[in-house]
Amino acid sequence: MSIKKDIRALTKTELRDFFVANGDKAFRGNQVYEWLWSKSAHSFDDMTNISKETRQMLETHFVINHIQVDDMQRSSDGTVKNAVRLHDGLVVESVLIPTGSRTTACVSSQVGCSLDCSFCATARLKKMRNLNPDEIFDQVAAINQESLLYYNHKLSNIVFMGMGEPLMNYNNVLKSIEKITSEEGLGMSPKRITVSTSGVPKMIKKLADDDVKFNLAVSLHSAIDEVRSEIMPFSKAFPLIDLKESLEYWYAKTNSRVTYEYVVWEGINDSKEAIQALVKFCKYVPCKVNLIEYNPIDDGDFQQAKPQTIDDYISILEMNDIIVNVRRSRGKDIDAACGQLANKKS
Ligand code: SAH
Repeated sequence: MSIKKDIRALTKTELRDFFVANGDKAFRGNQVYEWLWSKSAHSFDDMTNISKETRQMLETHFVINHIQVDDMQRSSDGTVKNAVRLHDGLVVESVLIPTGSRTTACVSSQVGCSLDCSFCATARLKKMRNLNPDEIFDQVAAINQESLLYYNHKLSNIVFMGMGEPLMNYNNVLKSIEKITSEEGLGMSPKRITVSTSGVPKMIKKLADDDVKFNLAVSLHSAIDEVRSEIMPFSKAFPLIDLKESLEYWYAKTNSRVTYEYVVWEGINDSKEAIQALVKFCKYVPCKVNLIEYNPIDDGDFQQAKPQTIDDYISILEMNDIIVNVRRSRGKDIDAACGQLANKKS
């Protein structure tokens, strides 16, 4: 039995060549390509301007591994969480977050996660596999459709802050962004896309070398090595000095400000020393800090710091001319908030 190929693994040129090799016109490749990407076809039968014989011929050679939105939950605050079934039965989650006149898609890049942050529900799932570029693209296309349906406008922003570590699935994430930004895909500006990483210095440098145009966010959570490696054990291999150096390299090449994501927990990073360490780290490259609300995931090892501590962070950062935003959680009632994505049904 021959194994059918995933048709979306082909470039446009390869698809055109395929048709020529099969005695058809190269142009047919363009038509099919458009169905696959900008029209997001789920099956060859959707391709109504392609003859039945050609569709059957495609069927014998290829499959379309389209995702299936199995379950959709809506939060009282308007956030929508999709449980997305992949062609092999595995499930990931993606989230639509409405804010004012904008909608943001939060997408997954891996099934489970390669890393081991102890405060994150996804980390407990372990990494099962990387998502393919088309599986990432499909999550965005599905949320774009939901945005049109529920909010009457197209998706405005994308954050790679769902399940997984995007920089541990580097090539596929970049390919998906190429598709999302190309005119044949969704035509979105890379400036509206943010890739969030737990901080893998080598890959941050690679992003800079590849001259990417999207935004970079780093989940910092502590600017003290001992604390960071306690709560994010993988970071023992990536000390802050290496992270600093990679961010300086990133900024020198891209001129693009970095966002630090930071949760303040009681007894972990709520000291004056912790705040001072963050201030020092923020001086290395132009940046802004997003203070994220903690979303409890279980046993109470981690607790959100007191409001007074958050206020101390804000005032000391601002005193040092560092931009700081406080990010409220969205979709908590359906386990759709940061760090809660673990294929749980509320
Ligand atoms: N692996 C990437 C992408 C995931 S983004 C990264 O770490 O950046 C998910 C964001 O939510 C990260 O900033 C992560 O640190 C944060 N997060 C994880 N668990 C959380 C929780 N329980 N409460 C609040 N934020 C959490």
